[in-house]
Amino acid sequence: MHCTLNSRLPQNEEIDKPQSNCGIIGVYGAANASTLTYYGLHSLQHRGQEASGIVSCQRTNGSNPSSKLRIFKGPGLVTEVFSDPAIINELLVGDVAIGHNRYSTTGSDNLENIQPFMVNYRDGQLAVAHNGNLTNTRSLRRKLQESGTIFQTSTDTEVFLHLTARSKAETPEDRIMDALNTVRGAYSLVMMHDDTLIAARDPHGIRPLCIGRQGDAWVVASETCALDIMQAEYVRDVAPGEVLFFDHRMDTNGEPVQRWLDEKPEQHHHCIFEYIYFSRPDSRVFEENVDKVRRKLGKVLAEEHPVDGDADDPVFVMAVPDSSNTAAVGFVRGAVKQGIEARVEIGLIRNHYIGRTFIQPGQEKREVKVRMKFNTVKGVVEGRKVVIIDDSIVRGTTSRLLINLIREANPRELHVRISSPPIMSPCPYGMDFPSASELIAAQNDGDVEKIREEIGADTLGYLSVEKMLSSVSHEGKRSYCTGCFTGSYPVPVEENMRKDEHEA
Ligand code: 5GP
Ligand code: MG
Repeated sequence: MHCTLNSRLPQNEEIDKPQSNCGIIGVYGAANASTLTYYGLHSLQHRGQEASGIVSCQRTNGSNPSSKLRIFKGPGLVTEVFSDPAIINELLVGDVAIGHNRYSTTGSDNLENIQPFMVNYRDGQLAVAHNGNLTNTRSLRRKLQESGTIFQTSTDTEVFLHLTARSKAETPEDRIMDALNTVRGAYSLVMMHDDTLIAARDPHGIRPLCIGRQGDAWVVASETCALDIMQAEYVRDVAPGEVLFFDHRMDTNGEPVQRWLDEKPEQHHHCIFEYIYFSRPDSRVFEENVDKVRRKLGKVLAEEHPVDGDADDPVFVMAVPDSSNTAAVGFVRGAVKQGIEARVEIGLIRNHYIGRTFIQPGQEKREVKVRMKFNTVKGVVEGRKVVIIDDSIVRGTTSRLLINLIREANPRELHVRISSPPIMSPCPYGMDFPSASELIAAQNDGDVEKIREEIGADTLGYLSVEKMLSSVSHEGKRSYCTGCFTGSYPVPVEENMRKDEHEA
């Protein structure tokens, strides 16, 4: 099923779960802009699987500002939403495009919340695709509504459009700057104002965004793995607080027009969970290879929480695929460096085709899900000293069920090592963490022994915050948001705002 923005009206005035961590693409000046966007979104599928959309436009070089934006979006994976080639080839024509993958949010199937959002206003057409969560949505929405704004969606992202349309500034560019200077929180954005492409990143640089060149064209993407599929060359990251305008003015000097947001924090705060779990290991994020950081996390984890093994009784290190594969390689390297006999073994197999599953009533839903997703290689596990590496424990359900499953294969010892610290607090900036009442670490006050008991491991070791921070670069203004581990948030969050508070 597909929809365009105006096809449905909101069901209520609640703000839905804010836009979570998502994937975004922008293309400027490529004859096949929507095709490139489609490929880019495909490689950013891990950043959101619920819905996908593209807006495109044919450039008019300023001569005809009323050129029309075209939009197509719907629920499902990129290949499902754009399964008919005519959508890309005939509908979404033009040389400028933006695209968005929406992260799955529990139970939320509101079609009107699928991005990009597009509106007509007095100066033309505006479209936006957003990655991250704003933290002053509630007061902004209230103010806008009090002055007569009607919201079409129940998301935080829509405020960008209204703030831009209502700004009193003279030029469209200044109106967009006005809007961006008003919002707070995490945002990496691509926007279109008629045939102008805009790319922006919040002053703290919480979410990633990079720039590449594909021949004469410019591309913007959440992660560099999207540049690779478009055969674009990485140029640099969009800097925190930087706003770039790709438009006809580039004809003279070839570079996008650069503006800066008012807020200039002393340090930037990149989301460290992008390195731990969210980004793909073949991406370069925050100017560092994700693979390299993830190996390092595994290596220091082995230093902090080794499991002993020698030639007669080696340690079998097994990743929970795929998110922990790289950390497991690092863990083995860290163990071997200490003289421990350890090796990576493929003892857990993941089924990649689970999709949307039908689960019969009466079955324990999570357990069926874990069994549908993972199975053990019994010959590898039986009688062995096994170390399971996972990148994180959120609710603890996966770990608990997975440990049950692995125990059926009769390992002699079953140790669990986590390449991040205990997750103690929700994320107001877009990570899909539940409230503290559902976080197993928060529920146990971070008591590792209690968590170990709950998940049923022989031993459990989490990476410390210090070791985690030692694995990433601190050059220049680079710092990190560790809010989910430490409860300390770099950007103020509106009073009582929780990740799930706007759930309808
Ligand atoms: P739990 O069952 O503890 O809630 O989930 C832990 C597992 O979820 C880990 O294997 C980890 O790789 C994965 N995970 C961590 N963060 C996220 C996230 O933001 N979204 C999703 N879908 N999975 C996550
Ligand atoms: Mg995982």
